[in-house]
Amino acid sequence: MTPPDDGPWGPARADAPAPAATQYPCAACGAAVSYRPGETVLHCPFCGSDTPIPDVDDIARREAVREHDFHAALERGVLDAEMETTQVVHCDSCGATVEFDPAEHARECPFCATPLVADSAADRHIKPQAVLPFAIDGDEARRAVARWRASLWFAPNGLKRYARERGRLSGVYTPYWTFDAQTETAYAGERGDAHSVRTRGPDGKPRLMTQIRWRRASGRVRRAFDDVLVLGATSLPRAYTDALAPWDLSQLKPYARDWLAGFRAEAYTVGLREAFGVARGVMDAQIRADVRAAIGGHQQRIHRLDTRVSDVTFKHVLLPVYVGAYRYRDRAYRVVVNGRTGAVRGERPWSAWKIALAALAALALAAAVLAIDQSGGFR
Ligand SMILES: [Zn+2]
Ligand SMILES: [Zn+2]
Repeated sequence: MTPPDDGPWGPARADAPAPAATQYPCAACGAAVSYRPGETVLHCPFCGSDTPIPDVDDIARREAVREHDFHAALERGVLDAEMETTQVVHCDSCGATVEFDPAEHARECPFCATPLVADSAADRHIKPQAVLPFAIDGDEARRAVARWRASLWFAPNGLKRYARERGRLSGVYTPYWTFDAQTETAYAGERGDAHSVRTRGPDGKPRLMTQIRWRRASGRVRRAFDDVLVLGATSLPRAYTDALAPWDLSQLKPYARDWLAGFRAEAYTVGLREAFGVARGVMDAQIRADVRAAIGGHQQRIHRLDTRVSDVTFKHVLLPVYVGAYRYRDRAYRVVVNGRTGAVRGERPWSAWKIALAALAALALAAAVLAIDQSGGFR
């Protein structure tokens, strides 16, 4: 038993596997094979042979998406069978911890392009239960980024050409936690209903005024949360990765190392307890929306919420993300691509000139409208 939260990783173990020449040798020639997105084979670029990734039965599939009990994991730790040890390298620049692949020669951090120190360390962590394999390959991801850049408003003119030359993307299996929970919330607040009243204005003429009548409201709301996703790493801004949703989690495959061949995998650095705190924030926002709907009326005030959370379970899954950094005028901009749908989010340069011109045009339009209005035009 190893508590999941003793440090992000838990202690290094002496029996960690020694790095082999490659983690994914071809059965025919021993060269490094890689998983081909959208297919279910491992491809060897050296001898051309394809090895099918074994299909799993329904029992294994159900096991893969089975949830762990959250409180039991925090109190008693996770079974040894549910832990694994891998060799990882740590990026001091951005904090990412990525799996070490001895066959990989360009040892660069996929998140910030900083050269990584060659030293790898054993990392013991909760084993991912399931993985969503990449469905689009690197070329498709690059095209998605190019389309995204072309669609940007107020981007500098040179960006399209410039970024195409220097863009780089690497496929990374990114760690996520997902949480399920039942909640029951007792609430107390007020419901505000709008109604019109006739009054007289200061000039003595009758007027209609809207008033809010407040009444006490209290009750209970319940919700069953399913698969609240929390990013398990801090190497990418959560705002971007959150915006890559939705993910087709119904297509999760039982965790098998085959799906990782040729890609990098990031290890989680956000522990279970911390991740649940983030998930609770997501749940609370939903609960407040539920309470407002239950109170009804035109406006609502919430004075008290008392939430009981039960049946908390979790899964650790890997989701496919292409991570890229492109440079434009000596600044690095990061982009992320959903490895299933090709959705793109990221940082981008703005053209100060185009924004200034648009602002001037808006001012000119406003002035013209004002001039027409004052001259009595359009009447
Ligand atoms: Zn081969
Ligand atoms: Zn880095």
